[in-house]
Amino acid sequence: MSAPARAEVRIDLGAIRHNVRHLVLLGDDAAVMVVVKADGYGHGAVDVARTALDAGARWLGVCTLEEAAQLRAAGITAPVLSWLHVPDEDFTGAVATGVNLGVASRRDLAAVAGGARAAGRPARIHLKIDTGLSRNGCPPHAWGDLLDAVAAHTESGEVEPVAVWTHFAHADAPAHPTIDSQTDRFDEAHAAATTRLGRPLMAHLANSAATLTRPDLHRDLVRPGIAVYGLDPVGGGDHLRPAMSLRSRVALVKTVAAGEGVSYGHIWSTPTDRDLALVPVGYADGVPRVLGATGRFEVAVGGRCRPVVGRVCMDQVVVDLGPAGTDHGVVEGDEVLLFGDGRDGGPTATEWADLIGTIHYEIVTGVGGRPRLHRT
Ligand code: PLP
Repeated sequence: MSAPARAEVRIDLGAIRHNVRHLVLLGDDAAVMVVVKADGYGHGAVDVARTALDAGARWLGVCTLEEAAQLRAAGITAPVLSWLHVPDEDFTGAVATGVNLGVASRRDLAAVAGGARAAGRPARIHLKIDTGLSRNGCPPHAWGDLLDAVAAHTESGEVEPVAVWTHFAHADAPAHPTIDSQTDRFDEAHAAATTRLGRPLMAHLANSAATLTRPDLHRDLVRPGIAVYGLDPVGGGDHLRPAMSLRSRVALVKTVAAGEGVSYGHIWSTPTDRDLALVPVGYADGVPRVLGATGRFEVAVGGRCRPVVGRVCMDQVVVDLGPAGTDHGVVEGDEVLLFGDGRDGGPTATEWADLIGTIHYEIVTGVGGRPRLHRT
């Protein structure tokens, strides 16, 4: 692999393939829907989708109709579920291209049925029950009413109910009591739907964490996202390989005298004469600005972790190479690994997230915009 550009996101599609194969094996009889929303969690939706399908995934999951349309435009014909819609959304194109649609309310249903009439074919729908996340989904008290409306639209040929589904609030804590209470509510709703609609319906509830830790919740389909990208949501996911790395190169090495402030606000000053390396990436490339204030932010330069000092700027960070004149071996042009798969002790997206009190999901989806993207 050639030296990275100023800032470069590398995606190891081999790692995606490895992770999907692992999830397919773990899923056993359940089909795997790989979640590729938010441009495949920042990894590139189309390439991830193709790789995942090749590795045994059978479905793709996205949030928006635009994301579904992007997959179809790329020639991907596998089943796709799109699950979050705004009022007055036009479903015609999605129905025409066979995209499965999440339905959580009578309003959703009416809009989807309108799209089906315009497309001249029934819409395949997945009915979402809110079992306790209190986010998207039909509340249990409105479920019977929604099922009556679905029955009517099924009768008229506008919709084809395919599944009942839900999403957990605490899947990353596998023994949390809400997992069982949500599952009980789900089972009740699923049973009511199959009875009312007079047909078998698929059931799906498990995200990555539940797929990895709760085989009893796999049912017909599992919906892993973060694990596909090699990031462990729950601990114990040692089989996963992180697919994304963020790299740059040393732009400048220089000596700064003792007692000088470094970067905006001078939150760090040189304790002695220091050699410093300038790395031309910053918060505009997805490096969270707050990392600089932790005092524990490190990047690997020349294969060795070294501290980033001072504030993260929009386009640059400064790395401390140690007292001036020591043999640090760093020269301009050297490769810098900001985060990667953690092999050889290098920094990881999970470590960044832990340092600033967030989750690795936010780190990988936040990288982008300006860095050049490389998928191998
Ligand atoms: N299912 C739904 C409805 C989601 O919104 C998401 C992601 O947030 C997933 C599955 C995948 O979750 P995870 O990335 O935790 O596996």
